[in-house]
Amino acid sequence: MIFETHAHMDGEEFDQDREEILARIREEGISHLVNVGSDIESSRRSLALARQYDWIYAAVGVHPEEIREFYPRSAQQIKKTADQNEEEREEENGINIIEPMQPNWRDRSHGEQVMEEIRRMAGEDKVAAIGEIGLDYYWVKDLEERQAQNYWFRRQLALAGELDLPVIIHSRDAAKDTLEIMRGVAKEGIRGVIHCYSYSREQALEYVKLGYFIGVGGVVTFKNGRRLREVVEAIPIHSLVLETDSPYMSPEPRRGRRNDPCNLRYIARRIAEIRGIPYDELVRVTEENAMRLYPEVRDGKTR
Ligand SMILES: [Zn+2]
Repeated sequence: MIFETHAHMDGEEFDQDREEILARIREEGISHLVNVGSDIESSRRSLALARQYDWIYAAVGVHPEEIREFYPRSAQQIKKTADQNEEEREEENGINIIEPMQPNWRDRSHGEQVMEEIRRMAGEDKVAAIGEIGLDYYWVKDLEERQAQNYWFRRQLALAGELDLPVIIHSRDAAKDTLEIMRGVAKEGIRGVIHCYSYSREQALEYVKLGYFIGVGGVVTFKNGRRLREVVEAIPIHSLVLETDSPYMSPEPRRGRRNDPCNLRYIARRIAEIRGIPYDELVRVTEENAMRLYPEVRDGKTR
């Protein structure tokens, strides 16, 4: 049976046919699915889904790209912008220039409220992990925003440590900072998965040494997925878990379309090819790996 370690079935992309797809997933031989939250609303929806289906588990957490929402727009800036606009309107004959409002990075009050709710949810039945959390510098050049991502990432890692839950890590364009942080928390016994792994083979082996799993999805089937295929070749098979990240990242031959966990077979087939082992063996080993990654699922624990 295939273990889907990372999907977002709660999203609006599945609002028209969610039940149908979930039924098909079962027929495809998928034994378990961890539905991953990326902000407070999707974390709530993940938990609701997990309560509805016994084979679905939830992860709750806030994605680095959603951290921005924790911060109110600076009041000072609003006033300044308003004043400026007043002058500019006069100066420029009624042309209204509106500056983008900057978040007030000092005000963490909303973030604290969200964190409180994440903590509450994480203690509920059927929550298998904290995630997805991490760093994403792809669009973020601003130092204060990067610092804010770091701050909330560490807070959520600490929460995972406190509740003894694994973490699901999202990391993009932040290889150095992520590895440094994960090295630090590994010493405190925090474990988990580097989801949608996109860095080098050398770093993958570092993560493996620290005890983390490597999450591999659709990219392994892409023409330009050579670097990931090298990672898949190099890491021990016992550190590898399968994921789709549905509805994103559809594998070949379905690239560009909405992804769903039925496509795990394309991913598993490609990885079995790369490793030179039978498909069934790959599926069996990665399911065992996923059970070690998510002990709550293995133990069928109700907290
Ligand atoms: Zn995801």
